[in-house]
Amino acid sequence: MRMVDLIEKKKSGQKLSKEEIDDLIENYVKKEIPDYQMSALLMAICFKNLDEEETYNLTNAMLHSGEQIDLSTINGICIDKHSTGGVGDKTTLVVAPIVSACGLKVAKMSGRGLGHTGGTLDKLESIPGFNINLTSEDFLKQVNEIGISVIGQTANITPADKMLYALRDVTATVDNVGLIASSIMSKKLASGAHTITLDVKVGEGAFMKDLPSAKILANRLVSIGKRSGKQVSAVLTDMSQPLGEMVGNSVEVIEAIETLKGRGPKRFVELCVELSSELLIMTGLAKTEDEARKTVNEKINNGEALDKLRQMIIYQGGDPKVIEDYTIFPTSVLSVPVISKWEGYIEEINALKIGEAAMVVGAGRESKDDKIDPSVGIKVMKSVGDYVKRDEPIAVMYVNSKGRAEAQDMIMSAFTVVSHKVVPTKMILGVVR
Ligand code: URA
Repeated sequence: MRMVDLIEKKKSGQKLSKEEIDDLIENYVKKEIPDYQMSALLMAICFKNLDEEETYNLTNAMLHSGEQIDLSTINGICIDKHSTGGVGDKTTLVVAPIVSACGLKVAKMSGRGLGHTGGTLDKLESIPGFNINLTSEDFLKQVNEIGISVIGQTANITPADKMLYALRDVTATVDNVGLIASSIMSKKLASGAHTITLDVKVGEGAFMKDLPSAKILANRLVSIGKRSGKQVSAVLTDMSQPLGEMVGNSVEVIEAIETLKGRGPKRFVELCVELSSELLIMTGLAKTEDEARKTVNEKINNGEALDKLRQMIIYQGGDPKVIEDYTIFPTSVLSVPVISKWEGYIEEINALKIGEAAMVVGAGRESKDDKIDPSVGIKVMKSVGDYVKRDEPIAVMYVNSKGRAEAQDMIMSAFTVVSHKVVPTKMILGVVR
């Protein structure tokens, strides 16, 4: 295979064969294909796309580029959930304990945040003592004993995706359905769970800006899952405003704990209940959506879901007292309100800008080696559709020394206020099974 021929082939809109895709990935991982040629191919893919079969073949080639996690020693049904990336997205911290309390096994490997989206690992590490670096043996043992563990990657899974994702990030080739679907599904297939629900975000804070393109991605993800013999569903959810009120690290863990105590923000609770119910239905633990929701709400109301989170914190070396005493979390020096300059109905709270503001104060990373500050973040005090008065606080910045003035301007610019009433977009926009 000559790389230039592959680029030419895709540039003219032709289909790449399985053999070509396998060779491509194998040689790229071996560093026999230079980044400039791979970049050209990625750009050709962005213009001419991958069809379903090419996407499936690319997924498999990336899956086989590294190790795969073997969960066969876990007694019970292993599930996984994945979000395509949002602002204020702490759903794993709520959904994982809920479904674990329902009897499902959560052996989950999560990632760190980059750019405006946060990462579950960074959030968990804001719990003093919490260890995300378990050995595979300890990880599997913990899941067998208490039904839940969330850790960083132990194995070298999908190295091809790591290399390609880093290249896509700097060549403006991230937002292509085939590339996103193969990237996500190669990692999910390598992570070993049989039943997976995917939270596909739609809106300004997401890769997919509108519902039709998000549906295309959701269908592609589900079809790759099915072809690979897994049970996969995708829930399309709104990301036209930040998820929940809190964006940051310790502040998001506190919000997740509050949610497990039955006091979460309405739209965030709706999303967590939906994703958890989806997993109960897929695994046969509930027959109908009503039954699933009832079970999920019971596990929140009777405290069993919160107990699962507590058990996980204890097993992974964290201080479980954080659940009752939030002052144990790293706390910022200042809380600075952001005050409304306008009066009217909130039409938009741009999630991307809020995520970037959180990054500027130190809650996120600009590049992968940056250190984050777990104590800082933003509380968004209003939702789309709310009425806001002049001089009323619309947000609070939890800050230390970094980025305060810049973040304040970014938060202000995230809000669009209009004089007419605004109906907020629904949280759940569809399910693809
Ligand atoms: N998340 C991923 O893991 N990969 C993508 O390409 C996009 C979102």
